[in-house]
Amino acid sequence: MASCNIYDSVSVDRLRAEFRIEPQRIRRLRTAFFKKSLGPEAALAEIPAEVRPAVRQQLKFRTLTVEKRYDSKLDGATKVLFRTTQGYLVETVILRSGSGRTSLCVSSQVGCAANCEFCATGKMGMAHDLSAAEMLDQIVVAGELLAEEGRRVRNIVFMGMGEPFHNEPSLYETVSALLDPRLFHYAPGRILISSVGIPAAMIRAAGRFPEVHLALSLHSACQDFRQQIIPLAARYSLAELREAVERINQIQRCSVMIEYLMLAGRNDSADDAHRLVEWLKGLRVHVNLIPFNPVREAPHLKSTDRAGRDAFATILKLAGYTTTIRYSLGADIAAACGQLVQQKNRKIARANQPIEVVKPFG
Ligand code: SF4
Repeated sequence: MASCNIYDSVSVDRLRAEFRIEPQRIRRLRTAFFKKSLGPEAALAEIPAEVRPAVRQQLKFRTLTVEKRYDSKLDGATKVLFRTTQGYLVETVILRSGSGRTSLCVSSQVGCAANCEFCATGKMGMAHDLSAAEMLDQIVVAGELLAEEGRRVRNIVFMGMGEPFHNEPSLYETVSALLDPRLFHYAPGRILISSVGIPAAMIRAAGRFPEVHLALSLHSACQDFRQQIIPLAARYSLAELREAVERINQIQRCSVMIEYLMLAGRNDSADDAHRLVEWLKGLRVHVNLIPFNPVREAPHLKSTDRAGRDAFATILKLAGYTTTIRYSLGADIAAACGQLVQQKNRKIARANQPIEVVKPFG
C-alpha cells in the first residue's frame, strides 16, 4: 500500500482494515494526534505494538518540515518557519495574549497575487498554493509547541501569507478537517478567514460554513486609494464588496469583521472615518483597527499614532459600530506576514522552474 496521509480519513480507514486495527485504537490515535497535540510517536503508541513499525512507515504525519523558530522577547509571539517539499519557506505565527488565549495565524499560499503595497508577501511576485495538508501541518505543529507549555490553539485565523480565497479548494478542505469531529473538532466560531475582498468567494464561504467568521481587509472606503494600496481591488468595486457583506449578513448570524490598517496621513483622517461610517451603514460588522508594522519594501508608509487611532475609533464608536484596536505583537521577530521569507522564496522560485509566476494585478 502507498503511504497515506494522516488527514485523509478514507486512506487511514483502509490502513486500519489492512492491519486489522480495532476502530477504537485508531480513534485513540486520532485523539492523541489531533485533539491532544501529543505528536506522532505518542499517537502511534495507541495502536498495537506489533503493527506499529509497519504503520509508522506508511502513515505520513508531516508534510512540512520545521526550519526555525523565533520567539519574541517583547511579547507572546512566536514565528515558526516551515519548509515545503519544493523548498519554499512558509510562516506561521503564534500569538499568546495576556489572558491566556492563543491565536494562530495560518498561511494559505507562498507569495500572494494581491500585491498589496504594505505587505512583504505581496512583493514576492509569485504565488504557490499550499495544500490542505500543508495548512493543517502548521496547526498541528503549533499545537504541539503549545502543548509543551500547557496551552492549546484556541483561535485559528487564515491571515498569514496569501489570499485564502485564491486557494479555495484547499482552504475548504482545511476548514472541513478543522471542524470534523473525527479530526480536530474545532468550534466554527474559533475560525476566521480573512480576505482582501473577493465577493463571490466570500459569499460561497459563508454559505458553506455559516458559523465560521469572515473578515474583509477593507483598509479604505475610497475606491481610488484602495486600488493604490491593494492593486487587486481594481477588480472588485466597493459597491460589490458592500453587497457581499450584506449578503453574508443574511446568511450568517455573526458579524463580519472589517479590518482597517491605519496608515498615517493616508487613510486615517476624520473624513476617512466618516466615509467608512457611510460605507458601513446598515451592515452588521465589527471594525478592527490595525496599527501598521513597517516593511522594508514600503518605507514611505508609517503607522498612525495612538492618538490618531483613538480619534478614528471614537468616530466609529459614536456612529454605533463595535470597534477594537488590535495591538501588534512580535515586532522584533518581523511578525507581519512574509517579511522573513520574501527574498529566500524568490530564489527558490527561480531555481524551481517551471513555477507558476503570477503577474501582479493592476
Ligand atoms: S496583505 Fe494579504 S492579500 Fe495583501 S498581499 Fe499580503 S498576503 Fe496578499
